[in-house]
Amino acid sequence: MSAIARRTVIVLIALAVLVGAPACGRRADTGLPSKAASSTDPGSLAYAIMDQFSNTVGPRPADTWGEIRAREFVFHAFQQYDYEPVLQEFIAQDGDGAAIHSANVIAVKPGESGATLVVGAHMDTVKGSPGALDNASGIGALLEISARVKDVSTPCTIAFVAFGAEEAGLLGSVHYVDALSDVERRAIAGMINLDSVAGGRVLYAYGDEAEGAWLLGDVLAIADRLQIEVATDALLQVKPRALGGVGYKKAGDHIPFASHGIPVAGFVAADEDLNAEGEPFFPMNTRRDTMATLQRRNPGQTRRQLRDVIEMLEVALTSKLAKQ
Ligand SMILES: [Zn+2]
Repeated sequence: MSAIARRTVIVLIALAVLVGAPACGRRADTGLPSKAASSTDPGSLAYAIMDQFSNTVGPRPADTWGEIRAREFVFHAFQQYDYEPVLQEFIAQDGDGAAIHSANVIAVKPGESGATLVVGAHMDTVKGSPGALDNASGIGALLEISARVKDVSTPCTIAFVAFGAEEAGLLGSVHYVDALSDVERRAIAGMINLDSVAGGRVLYAYGDEAEGAWLLGDVLAIADRLQIEVATDALLQVKPRALGGVGYKKAGDHIPFASHGIPVAGFVAADEDLNAEGEPFFPMNTRRDTMATLQRRNPGQTRRQLRDVIEMLEVALTSKLAKQ
């Protein structure tokens, strides 16, 4: 081979290497997890996230490094699922009058209409609790369902919201609702709350008790269609218009929405009879709220309930509900 020919071959090889390599600035096709999520068994991704979130993030009370780690986790998970999440920071007073600096993480999936369904779950815990049931279970379900519907057509626009500072007095959800304009608030068709949704013995659905309330009815009809066993209890239902009218002693992030007349529904996995004295959500809000405790007390229930919740949510978010 002549020197010129040899040089030509070298140049050609160099060109081939350059063409083969991804161009600078071009987005590499990494195979986004949101595309893979819908091919996994319903609930399996939520279970893995619940495990990881409770074990690696650990206790995450409002306005601590734990809560900051929690929102970093959720923020990056939404990004992995091809969303462009927004951090909504706020400072609010807790029940003792202390100023709490916290934030919500919001990821929006545009739908066929501007009518918006909010799907929410809180990230924080009380002090010292790893919060597997309360509420790594809800965060797992929130992130999995966001991934599953990312590339699917949905009648409603869906706002997936991970709330901060719930245990400090619903501070994140109150801020979210207060920060909406009247037009935005009127566009919210309903709110589905995911708080402590897997790991107890019985899966309950709750919602508005008001006449004409529709979201809970839809959820129950979907459960019926999918042959999923979901219990209801008068103690969990939201009384019309009354912030203090919730039957159960501890309200959730759905309450600020309900108090603005927005229809609400939610799931909760309770471990004991709701009518029993004492704490029906053992080991909620204790150091023993771990994957190991849930697995020991109700073997297999965590996975089953996450699967059930994801299957119901997937139908709810992708089909036309009664009032849309
Ligand atoms: Zn909770």
